[in-house]
Amino acid sequence: MTDPFSLLHALKKCQPDEIYNLAAQSHVQVSWETPLYTAQTTGIGVLNLLEAVRILDLKCKIYQASTSELFSGNILDGIPQNESTHKDPKSPYGTAKLYAFQICKNYREAFGMFICNGILFNHESYRRGDNFVTKKILNQAESGLLHLGNLSASRDWGYAPEYVEGMWKMLQQDEPDDYVLATGETHSILEFVEWTEKEFGKKLSIMIDNEFIRPNEVWVLKGDPSTAKKVLGWEAKTKGRDLVKKMLQKDV
Ligand code: GDP
Repeated sequence: MTDPFSLLHALKKCQPDEIYNLAAQSHVQVSWETPLYTAQTTGIGVLNLLEAVRILDLKCKIYQASTSELFSGNILDGIPQNESTHKDPKSPYGTAKLYAFQICKNYREAFGMFICNGILFNHESYRRGDNFVTKKILNQAESGLLHLGNLSASRDWGYAPEYVEGMWKMLQQDEPDDYVLATGETHSILEFVEWTEKEFGKKLSIMIDNEFIRPNEVWVLKGDPSTAKKVLGWEAKTKGRDLVKKMLQKDV
């Protein structure tokens, strides 16, 4: 994503009908440690992709993986968050994604390109990276001791395969637009721990480690997916504790 020549060669060779751009440095805490790299991959990388498509004059549809990290998570900005909720990211990751979101909108409006921003709230599966909180809790549950950061923040967690279908549906529409995909529920990190305790049938001890506390926090994410339901006919099916069960089905 940081090498425009590579993008040009790859796109020229494969002549895609649809592009799903999920490439990024996608971890919020890592973005505090590597803000420049995050800006280059997650932000400017998207510009490189759009310019490559434009230079090659490809008539493909583009999906951009946008994120609920565009939102502040602050009650004053509105909860639940929908497509028009004020955007005020709280991390270098969210800020890079905001640049990507807006440059996609610029290119869509200026050049008539078919580009959709999917504003996806957290979506998990057994393939989730080990340094995200859901997977981390499940990985450490066996030992009985969890090393975590902020337990009070809350997230709108859905099941990733369902969200991928939503991404695809966005590109099957006649007109491009931006859509929130979410369950519409929000749960604290502590609730996720409690679900895990029930699933494993044992109490878990938690050690709060400063290493995992972020310089700034997005406190409450709760999406309003009503536009996606109305236009795409999309709805999250897996919610709450069912997600823990699905994440543990490693042999799918
Ligand atoms: P994010 O929503 O994209 O940042 O997804 P994460 O799974 O990385 O973090 C979700 C929430 O869990 C955030 O509010 C974190 O502050 C909180 N959290 C608490 N402890 C941890 C931890 O040990 N690791 C991570 N990654 N997040 C944690």
